[in-house]
Amino acid sequence: MNKKMLELGNNRSIIRELFEFSKIQKEKYGADKVYDFTLGNPSVPPHKAIDETIIELLNTKAPSYNHGYTSAPGDNEVRKAIADDLNKRFGTNYKFTNFYMTCGAAASLCITLKALTESNTDEILAMAPYFTEYKVFVEAAGATFGIVPANETFGINFAELDKMINKNTKAIIVNSPNNPSGVVYSEDELKKFAELLLKKEKEFNHSVYLICDEPYREIVYDGLKVPHIPSIYHNTVICYSYSKCLSLPGDRIGYILVPDQVDDSKDLYAACLGAGRALGYVCAPSLYQKVIERCATLTSDMNEYKKNRDLLYNGLKKVGFECVYPQGAFYLFVKSPEADANKFMEKAKKYNIVIVPSDGFGVKGYVRLAYCVSSKVIIDSMPAFEKLYNEYK
Ligand code: PLP
Repeated sequence: MNKKMLELGNNRSIIRELFEFSKIQKEKYGADKVYDFTLGNPSVPPHKAIDETIIELLNTKAPSYNHGYTSAPGDNEVRKAIADDLNKRFGTNYKFTNFYMTCGAAASLCITLKALTESNTDEILAMAPYFTEYKVFVEAAGATFGIVPANETFGINFAELDKMINKNTKAIIVNSPNNPSGVVYSEDELKKFAELLLKKEKEFNHSVYLICDEPYREIVYDGLKVPHIPSIYHNTVICYSYSKCLSLPGDRIGYILVPDQVDDSKDLYAACLGAGRALGYVCAPSLYQKVIERCATLTSDMNEYKKNRDLLYNGLKKVGFECVYPQGAFYLFVKSPEADANKFMEKAKKYNIVIVPSDGFGVKGYVRLAYCVSSKVIIDSMPAFEKLYNEYK
């Protein structure tokens, strides 16, 4: 038995643990009496064109087209549609051969990490706060995971990065809009980051890649646009997913983009093909590839998330909590009124508020609230939050 895998399988993530707890509470007290902010499961339904496209495909295309194997990196027409969409939006010149279709961001990351690293002397850095599974993915690839401590604003921590990037650093994972903080890195920050990385590449005389994990790219508020990082830093690989922006998390569809400008781009793309083979990820779900071909330009209705963002942020600020203003994604990062966020999480449970302490995200003293819930949950939860806050007065 693989001990590491056994341990992973037996230890559920705290998010799953809390989600299960809230299910039990809902059975006990009634679903409307429990305020579950644990899971990042999109609450907005997919664009209606998704289901219409599926029905049309099933009615008009042969089963072998809808359900058969595509070529290993994905159907050419599908990848072409994605390239066309990005080229239009970002003024790029991608071809279908730059894309590898995957089963969502998790697969995109696992494949890219496997392709880029060879042994545990190879290091992958992630900036805190970070998506908890990064550590699992990096270690499964056989590499070493390093955490760049967060700065006060949860932006890019240049001082720490400067200290931490070393001769073994193969890549840095960037996640903007960020889960769990909701922060979106600005173009100026990213340009400064690119300068630092170029300096490090020169210093160590090897490539330092950025792996941009972007499942929330289209979930931004206040007219913000997420900068296209490959246009800012040459060695950028994108790991994308339609789980969040098209509300298709259960359908497992996404891609890896390896632009031509990336160092050794042909070899890196080929290594992704190899890693896809080795990990058994060849051929992303065929029907959903065809759906993406026809719906690549669409997103779910982001107004719902914006409404929830405003309700939760303004509501909790009014109660007295200190919160990070979310510019994107659907998470609110709230400062715990006591140093130990686990204790705060436990106190919140008394009021049937279920929230995730930040320790697993590489930061102490915060909790994450996923506001991909119905607005009613947020409105109804406010008196409970008030009672919780009063415990600290
Ligand atoms: N990366 C981040 C930052 C996420 O929040 C998630 C899912 O919540 C993933 C990756 C995994 O996404 P997928 O469901 O597409 O595998």
